[in-house]
Amino acid sequence: MSRFFSSRYDKLTPYTPGEQPQDRRYIKLNTNESSYPPSPLAIEMAREEAGKLQLYSDPECRSLKRAAAEILGFSEDELIFTNGSDEILNFAFMAFCDDSHPAAFADITYGFYPVFAALNSVPYREIPLREDFTPDPADYIGTNETLFIANPNAPTGRELPMEKLKEIIASNPGRIVVVDEAYVDFGGESAAPLVREYDNLLVTRTFSKSRSLAGARLGFGIACPELIRDLETIRYSTNPYNVNRMTMAAGVGALKDQAYFERNRTAILETRAYTAEELEKLGFSVLPSSANFVFVKHEKIGGEALYRELRERGILVRHFSPERIREYNRITIGSREEMEALTAVLREILA
Ligand code: PMP
Repeated sequence: MSRFFSSRYDKLTPYTPGEQPQDRRYIKLNTNESSYPPSPLAIEMAREEAGKLQLYSDPECRSLKRAAAEILGFSEDELIFTNGSDEILNFAFMAFCDDSHPAAFADITYGFYPVFAALNSVPYREIPLREDFTPDPADYIGTNETLFIANPNAPTGRELPMEKLKEIIASNPGRIVVVDEAYVDFGGESAAPLVREYDNLLVTRTFSKSRSLAGARLGFGIACPELIRDLETIRYSTNPYNVNRMTMAAGVGALKDQAYFERNRTAILETRAYTAEELEKLGFSVLPSSANFVFVKHEKIGGEALYRELRERGILVRHFSPERIREYNRITIGSREEMEALTAVLREILA
């Protein structure tokens, strides 16, 4: 740290992203990307836009809002677009948390929440998940904190049933509930329709997983117009051009190509069922997953050792070091061929 670094941040521990190695080709099952390329329409639209990169992007994201409103069924003033959903999550910490609105989230959840809290000097509390990694809804009722709930959760893949989520939202009318739906397209039920009923609900989503655009960085929020206006105040105060031209065009293409989206999503769900079954046959415990990954452990090999053995053999998965989950690995659901390669390598390691 230089002597110039602000004391506001000198205790900040930054987020550790999953590895994006450049040294060799891996079967990449570590950052929940899609193993399918973007829709051909998304690629074509981004390519056309590349010739206009001398011009700033539309700060109002009109083309995207129009497409999303039409295809996802919300009105344009219920939507805000950001540079990945990470950005809207940060905006939510900026807009809706402070000393008198502390944050709360599960002890085992998306690792960026405590980082955003620290970045924005927001006090926070971690709510322990139960032994089976499900949240106890009672812990979230009337807590008077700004709640961040990843649903389905990461890295566990477990889902909180919608009626429980609704009770939580209804019990905290004076506080915002942020429902992070990065993985909702893989079998979860969305809370987004509830934004018409609850003015304290913000739902965040991403194009990174189910729409194969992780590298484009595109996320969005769904909330009542008043909350969207607050978030727009933050966006216009940080970077109104947060969604670049090529990403905006790719996003419109990805939305319009619903058939491609449905096909890939269905393939991922089928491959998840296949993978869970194969891993169980090999003696793994596999948590039930509503996401595009499975969270697994094996009695015969520790979590970190398994991660290393797989890495040596060209397969990347994600290992986390916190005590409660150190025996686990999170494995992204890739293509059927990738998962067949994984099970073959696992068989070899376990032998
Ligand atoms: N929320 C959760 C739960 C995630 O796992 C991720 C992916 N790392 C994100 C949000 C952010 O994804 P992105 O910024 O690519 O939209």
